[in-house]
Amino acid sequence: MAFATHVNTERCTGCGNCVVACPVDALELYTLDPVTKEKIYVVQDGVSINIDINAELCAGCGVCVEACPYDVITLAGSTNTDQLVRSQIRG
Ligand code: SF4
Ligand code: SF4
Repeated sequence: MAFATHVNTERCTGCGNCVVACPVDALELYTLDPVTKEKIYVVQDGVSINIDINAELCAGCGVCVEACPYDVITLAGSTNTDQLVRSQIRG
């Protein structure tokens, strides 16, 4: 079953706590190379940060919500989508 996980892009700092905490590796935090647009898996200040949430993998356990020190993640319950949900945090 897929769940909808939402990240408040205004308040996320890109700390990565949620990515580490997720037991099924449903979260992916990365920056984009400004030239090649390829993913860079190191978060740096001043560089765009994105989180990908694989809704198909997400079990809705809420561990990432608890792990976030800034309370910016919410779970919206089960959905029928299996699409990759992408939230741009800073660009
Ligand atoms: S709710 Fe659980 S499975 Fe889904 S992204 Fe958060 S930690 Fe991962
Ligand atoms: S734990 Fe919270 S602040 Fe840190 S990367 Fe995840 S959503 Fe952003």
